[in-house]
Amino acid sequence: MDLLTHICSGIASATVIAAFAEKQPAKRWKILVAGAIGGAFPDIDAISMWSRFDATFGRLFGLNHSGKVIYGEKFWYSHHAFFHSIIAALLFAVVFGLLAYIIYKIKHKTTISFFLYCKKNISIGIAFIAGYVLHLLGDMPTPASAWGGVSLFWPTDNYIGGSGKIWWWNNYDIFLLIVLCTVINIVLLFALKKRIQKTMIALISALTILLVVIQINTRKYDYAYSGHTSHYAEMERHSKEEQKRILGKPLYSAMEWVDKHLPVQF
Ligand SMILES: [Zn+2]
Repeated sequence: MDLLTHICSGIASATVIAAFAEKQPAKRWKILVAGAIGGAFPDIDAISMWSRFDATFGRLFGLNHSGKVIYGEKFWYSHHAFFHSIIAALLFAVVFGLLAYIIYKIKHKTTISFFLYCKKNISIGIAFIAGYVLHLLGDMPTPASAWGGVSLFWPTDNYIGGSGKIWWWNNYDIFLLIVLCTVINIVLLFALKKRIQKTMIALISALTILLVVIQINTRKYDYAYSGHTSHYAEMERHSKEEQKRILGKPLYSAMEWVDKHLPVQF
């Protein structure tokens, strides 16, 4: 799935955590930012496709394969491998927590212990993990391709998902549902009274999950393939035709315009 949808789903999950775990607006914003970072972070492994990867990381780590080969392989640092696992979500939550703790200690010249710091900011860490895990779940209905899903339980060899129920990108319907949920939840989070807030945000989020699951499972085309496919362009065309059918021509055209003007694949 595309990066923007991953970021939005991370923020949406963070709104639920913020509503239930935090009252201070400033800290609620931090929770939303953590959710967004968690939602985006797993695709850091796509850096192997960066045009300067071989001259920088490749040379630095003495890698035997080019970035392009690494991306489509099943090395631990390939796309959909270690960085797309639950253990990575937990590990990076601790690493970022430790970094934040060090910065906090230097800035405030305090003797607070790491344990107490984590306890005070646990909701931020949970939002990061929730955004991260939602990213992994969002990638599962995409095609198996070279990997066969995501390495959810790394270091085991089992790749999970890769069903090809949805295409890699152009899933505008799913994106719009998640954006709508995110915007409504943020408005509710900062504008509504506390008690109604939680119920409304929980209900809207549950409804969004249900609608997204329905959209994933009611595609008319099958996007499943493993390894490489000669039907890539045809599947991409089907994906766009499908979106036109679901959204209607005016909304589809608007989304296509947005897509064309964005620097990221969407
Ligand atoms: Zn991903």
